Amino acid sequence: MGIVRQVADDQMARKRDSLRHLSFRPSRSPATTNMSPAIHDIHIAQTDALPEPRLLRQELPAGETQAAFITAARAATRAILRGDDDRLLVVVGPCSIHEPASALEYAQRLRQLAAQLAGELLLVMRVYFEKPRTRMGWKGLIYDPGLDGHGDIGEGLRQARRLLLECARLGVPAASEILDLVTPQYYAELLTWGAIGARTVESPLHRQMASALSAPVGFKNATNGSVSAAIDAIHVASQPHRFPTISLEGKAVVITTTGNPDGHLVLRGAGDGPNYDAASVGLAALALAGAKLPARLVIDCSHGNSSKDHRRQSGVAADIAQQLVAGSHNICGVMLESHLVEGRQEIVDGRHGLRYGQSVTDACIGWDSTVDVLQELATAVIRRRAAPIRIGPLGGQ
Ligand code: PEP
Ligand code: MN
Repeated sequence: MGIVRQVADDQMARKRDSLRHLSFRPSRSPATTNMSPAIHDIHIAQTDALPEPRLLRQELPAGETQAAFITAARAATRAILRGDDDRLLVVVGPCSIHEPASALEYAQRLRQLAAQLAGELLLVMRVYFEKPRTRMGWKGLIYDPGLDGHGDIGEGLRQARRLLLECARLGVPAASEILDLVTPQYYAELLTWGAIGARTVESPLHRQMASALSAPVGFKNATNGSVSAAIDAIHVASQPHRFPTISLEGKAVVITTTGNPDGHLVLRGAGDGPNYDAASVGLAALALAGAKLPARLVIDCSHGNSSKDHRRQSGVAADIAQQLVAGSHNICGVMLESHLVEGRQEIVDGRHGLRYGQSVTDACIGWDSTVDVLQELATAVIRRRAAPIRIGPLGGQ
């Protein structure tokens, strides 16, 4: 991305300018002068202010109706996770939001489908704003809303909040991965479901941050496939913690949390193979029970479970549907990466030239396949109701 390089070059030039006077000083040993060498901000080119979280909340407030909707959607999610509601939680939507207009169109379509399938499925839309990258790449709408490397994070937070409020107004519950440790203060109260991803599930800072979140949180197995890393994370996040963060006024504070009681496992596969099959689900259920946690979990049809080939997601969902029909109550949720248009595209020139409604991060299934998959899962839930109950570490087998 040429513009990214340009921004970086501009920043380096500013940094050089601000430091130029230093290079004209004769270099002397600190022992022979009062001048100390600069030991701070060596790699910082620029500092910009962010609005305090409270100001953004005041500018874009959650009204009473929206707050009531989010509270009810979280309660419904919790009931499914705890086994008090036999529907399936489905976290479905784009890998990332880069285009608020197509995200809203997706939300409108999902709302209609959610109403039709409400007896069997609770649909929660993926509204993901922060993308963990294995190497370099676009970091999501909050970090770079222009998709051009300028990184106007204040504007990104504003757009994220606006979209989440619009989802709540439409009656579409929202899910997001929480990656940054500061940004949750700006929008996390609008989420029905949160994720800690495969790259951060072992991070002590993310685990303690999850202990403060108000929504139920799914913990992905680690990128190397480790389920125990996620189980450890569920335990850690369920406990109280004290840690530094920023307040709604933007001040450095220490908060004490009570712990998040609604952490759960998300199986997302790994580089060396998937873990959506009945045998892997049985092993994960055994591990959960061994750790004295409820043997219920969510399965991500994408990422390591689809070998990042979006066309495989429907096959993974079909396998999950068969497990449900066979009576498995270990599976209480499914995740799908889906957008209006199938596949993915590269960001070449910022927003210019992008196809409307197609992912710019992981490839997604298109809308028609999404409808087919959701109907298949809803039918499987109906058939599970008629099947003998199989719950337990090994699915009751
Ligand atoms: C995602 O959900 O888009 C994602 C990055 O997931 P994971 O952490 O499983 O790779
Ligand atoms: Mn993804």
